[in-house]
Amino acid sequence: MRTAVVVGAGMAGLAAAGALARTGWRVTLLERGERIAAPPTALVLWSNGRRALEAIDPGGGWEGIAAPLPDGGVRRPDGGWLVAPRSRPGAGPAPAVVHLEDLYDTLIAGLGDRVEIRTGARVTAVTGRGRRLSVADGPTVFEADLVVAADGIDSPVRRALAPESVAVGSGFAAWQAVVPGYRLPRLNAEQAAGGETLGAGYRFVSMPLGERAAGRGGMYWVATAAGAPRPEPPATQLALLRRWFGRWHAPIPELLAATRPEDLVPQEVRELRPLPRAYGFPAGPGGVVLVGDAGHAMPHHLGQGACLAFEDVATLAALVGGARPGPELRAAIDTYSRTRRPRTTSVVRQMRRMSAVVQARGRLALRARDAALGSLRPRMLGHAEGLAAQWQPPE
Ligand SMILES: Cc1cc2nc3c(=O)[nH]c(=O)nc-3n(C[C@H](O)[C@H](O)[C@H](O)COP(=O)(O)OP(=O)(O)OC[C@H]3O[C@@H](n4cnc5c(N)ncnc54)[C@H](O)[C@@H]3O)c2cc1C
Repeated sequence: MRTAVVVGAGMAGLAAAGALARTGWRVTLLERGERIAAPPTALVLWSNGRRALEAIDPGGGWEGIAAPLPDGGVRRPDGGWLVAPRSRPGAGPAPAVVHLEDLYDTLIAGLGDRVEIRTGARVTAVTGRGRRLSVADGPTVFEADLVVAADGIDSPVRRALAPESVAVGSGFAAWQAVVPGYRLPRLNAEQAAGGETLGAGYRFVSMPLGERAAGRGGMYWVATAAGAPRPEPPATQLALLRRWFGRWHAPIPELLAATRPEDLVPQEVRELRPLPRAYGFPAGPGGVVLVGDAGHAMPHHLGQGACLAFEDVATLAALVGGARPGPELRAAIDTYSRTRRPRTTSVVRQMRRMSAVVQARGRLALRARDAALGSLRPRMLGHAEGLAAQWQPPE
């Protein structure tokens, strides 16, 4: 039987393990954590991410966990419009917000009984010297025809195969939280729709979760600030956020007031520079592929990291689903790499433009940004949404 080892049980690894198992592979899923746990946050699935999940598991019930994403427009901190809300072009499934608990639960439900899950297994090495590939977790060695590296931005598998690609800070820190429905402040309809607000080097985005999201509903928010991550404990960081965003328009101070330190997920925003030279490394009867952040971690300004991870998995499953170990599987891995590399490169290019907008500071830079935003932003978003809408799952 064809065997695959998937390293990492984040959303890319869970999706890959389920997709391979459904096409007849025997899969071992290795996760360094003691359990598989969703971060207590949410994310946006753009049309490409939604299409990819449907392709990965048409019976997954994705519709049931996705809440529509309203277009709340872009505002200045005083509430004035930089870009008024507009109706979204109709191409592709509508963007949606999902709570990660619901997303992980659905991905785990899709693993079926052909996936052996090993938690507490930290992969430290991958070798392709023998007839088959093997990954090692200290003394334990797992052999396979296909190794899927879904082990995130610090992937030891990528570091071994594509050492040119290095994880670096992007010059931002981010804070995320979900305020559960029962703790939400009273909001009018416009405030409840959330939206994006841009200040000088600061950005705040909020969006409503479906009423049943993670059984609690509520609102998800993500704040971004240019600069290094903060070393202080969460309560101090929350106090800082309340100070930075305290005079911004409603409902930003209200959402921060309703957030508790234990809700806060602070992190440094990092990315891979340059992107790996390849996403597939044929070896033995098959080879190694990179999926998700292991291959293309990037700042969250376009909200495309997970969407691209699901594209990776849909592409991989379509290419290797029926491939036999040997020349056929090696060719499929090569095609995977040649398909995914240009795609992620173009999304990263688009994301860098957005990064410059978020990072704008100083009076001149801000004036230029605000003047340009009216035309630039819809064009940029148009490009980004175009990029998302263009993608189709492979046959
Ligand atoms: C603030 C913020 C907002 C975002 N918003 C969006 C959004 O709206 N839309 C969107 O599409 N994307 C968004 N993203 C990006 C998205 O969160 C990531 O792209 C996605 O989480 C990557 O998933 P992954 O499974 O590839 O990696 P990870 O989630 O990092 O998972 C890697 C897994 O591998 C395990 N692992 C690591 N090393 C080893 C090892 N050596 N052995 C075994 N296991 C290992 C880890 O424990 C982990 O479980 C956002 C990111 C941030 C930071």
